[in-house]
Amino acid sequence: MINKRMWNKLFLLGVCIGVLLPNTSAVAKNIEESVKIPIVQKEVFNEYNITKQNEEMIIESKNNTNILYGLQQVDGVWYYFRNGKIDIGYTGLVRKGDDWYYVENGVFKPKYTGLVKKEENWFYVEMGQFKPQYTELVRKENDWYYVENGAVNWKYTGLIEKDNTWLYVQEGKFRPQYTGLVRDMKKKNFRLMLIAGHGQGDSGAVGNGYWESDLTRDLVKRIETVAMSKGISTIVYDMDKNAVKQIRAGNIPLFSGNNYCLEVHFNASSKSTSRGSMFYIHKNENGWSVENNILQRLYNLGSKKAWDGVVKANRQWEKGLLVQNNSIRQGVPHGLLETCFISNKDDVNWYLENSNKIAEQVIEALIDSFGLVEEEKWTGYKAGTWYYVENGAVRWDYTGVVSKGENWYYVERGTINWKFSGIKKSNNKEFTIKNGVATIK
Ligand SMILES: [Zn+2]
Repeated sequence: MINKRMWNKLFLLGVCIGVLLPNTSAVAKNIEESVKIPIVQKEVFNEYNITKQNEEMIIESKNNTNILYGLQQVDGVWYYFRNGKIDIGYTGLVRKGDDWYYVENGVFKPKYTGLVKKEENWFYVEMGQFKPQYTELVRKENDWYYVENGAVNWKYTGLIEKDNTWLYVQEGKFRPQYTGLVRDMKKKNFRLMLIAGHGQGDSGAVGNGYWESDLTRDLVKRIETVAMSKGISTIVYDMDKNAVKQIRAGNIPLFSGNNYCLEVHFNASSKSTSRGSMFYIHKNENGWSVENNILQRLYNLGSKKAWDGVVKANRQWEKGLLVQNNSIRQGVPHGLLETCFISNKDDVNWYLENSNKIAEQVIEALIDSFGLVEEEKWTGYKAGTWYYVENGAVRWDYTGVVSKGENWYYVERGTINWKFSGIKKSNNKEFTIKNGVATIK
């Protein structure tokens, strides 16, 4: 390949030879031909040279200083490039600037609307663009899925309003066959992203018989379990992957649509006496009440303050932290928790003895800081949190006795009436009802 500087040199060489020899143009032409790149087929689009070699399209900027990467427009079409080649094997979401776009076989699809898979999850795309704010039931083939903040919430079981009907969703999917009593666990629109630090061959710090990469995964799983029990949505970054390695390879995680990203690590020091818990946050953060809230709870569980507790990452690393910088770039606040010191035996024991409580306190702190209280969204029907669903939809017009498991309950206009006591007839049977619980008379 030849660059501008080389051309200049060749040009000067040609001029020099031209001074010495009478037939200058012929010599210059010979030199030009001798340095020509072997090209099968060459087309020039805008400022790019395009060559087709062995079915692969190679595109380079003319001055050969940039190898194309990511989404690039060539002659009106956007292609997805990796190392200067269109990645025709790639189908999925690709980031450009602050947004994500849907690419099919290496080509951007501006007309596509629907669900797209990325890292074990389904994301909602409208006219080729990922919509991180979208919350709605979305159809894919013959089924409907509950999309919350742009992603299918596979952990959601409860009711969703669509076209004035309340539909029953179980584990992220609308269940049109379901009939029975359901409880709605819905928390305010909020999704937590969890990343376990290290992994994929990188142990992280090692101490007291433990690998950091194992402990980070252990804690992330516990936090996920607690979050689920509290009705809080989570997206857990693929545990087989190391976010840092993935970003370096160009696979930027999709942070958009999450309300907070918690990256879990364990600290280490050459001084075995170093102890305690701390957070690294991005240098641009103006507040850190969430991180303080979590730390305060960990201190209450017996940990102590490490360094200054909440520390801006650039105090230690000038350029900040790679994963954190990417999360912030996508508009998602990010905290890197250094849970405790793996290099300190007391800290490791503290973790092993308190791991579940630590997970609980992390979630309690988030519920507290983000105000994630259960929403009362049922206007007009305040009678409780259990609803009678028939063929996937709440029967607001239904009044009668409904069974669940071994028990019978009195439902009035779609919800269990826990305040009712008396006698009611339902399905030709007579029931004695006490505080909403029915028994056959
Ligand atoms: Zn680490």
